[in-house]
Amino acid sequence: MAGRKDDCIFCKIANGDIPTNSVYQDDNFNVFLDAAPASKGHVLIVPKVHYDNAYSMDDEFAAKVFPLATKVANAVKKAFNADGVNVVQNNEEAAGQTVFHFHMHVIPRYKDDDVNVTWKQHELTGDEQTEIADAIKKEL
Ligand code: AMP
Ligand code: ZN
Repeated sequence: MAGRKDDCIFCKIANGDIPTNSVYQDDNFNVFLDAAPASKGHVLIVPKVHYDNAYSMDDEFAAKVFPLATKVANAVKKAFNADGVNVVQNNEEAAGQTVFHFHMHVIPRYKDDDVNVTWKQHELTGDEQTEIADAIKKEL
């Protein structure tokens, strides 16, 4: 059973111990403005209980995350007439996680904005694709 973690900033913010610009709350989540937004309307969907990242989240809780992401994505798009929305979630330092309490970014996008959510693309041979797909399948 997940609970709160001592000295976790997002546990404190999500549960109201530290004030924030919250835009939505329910029994499980607090959605608040990112303190250093990538774009106008960038918000974070943050569980009130502590999960370090997506790996440790149980199925029942995980199933609640995306319906809320959908709702929030629609809201920020409508609020600012955004041209698009990125829903992004980082796990571990190598993937860009800096706050180690699970959160999902909802980032409104505007034509010609300066947000950068991209990666360099690589080409694979058919054999390489098969080998990679097999390695993943074995773990699922
Ligand atoms: P990540 O790099 O995916 O772990 O994202 C962490 C996000 O949390 C960053 O976009 C930060 O700007 C944001 N952040 C850090 N501290 C706070 C805070 N006290 N209140 C709101 N957002 C925060
Ligand atoms: Zn926490």
